[in-house]
Amino acid sequence: MKIVKLTKEELLERMNEFWQETDEKPYIEPKFTIVCPFCSSEMVFKHANYFSRGYPNNVGYNYRCDVAYKCLNCGYVATFGVAISESHYKKVLKKGEKFIEWWQC
Ligand SMILES: [Zn+2]
Repeated sequence: MKIVKLTKEELLERMNEFWQETDEKPYIEPKFTIVCPFCSSEMVFKHANYFSRGYPNNVGYNYRCDVAYKCLNCGYVATFGVAISESHYKKVLKKGEKFIEWWQC
């Protein structure tokens, strides 16, 4: 499998086209409407899981958030693997909230 190799700057620039880091829970928002591929209903935020992969230098980009959206009509769940800035990751961690569920927002 071929893996596209982007610089940190290219990766974060690409993520910034689609995702916005915010100061309110869940601290990340899509810049687009997420629509269920099966029934075309608009999907809603389910959870966000912030984590660091702990890669050694230059192997991969460490700071990530898996963001899940759910279709309330058919139950389909989609998870996006979003690269976030190191400063945003540390800000969220400082709040002690690595896993944020829909009912907390
Ligand atoms: Zn659906």
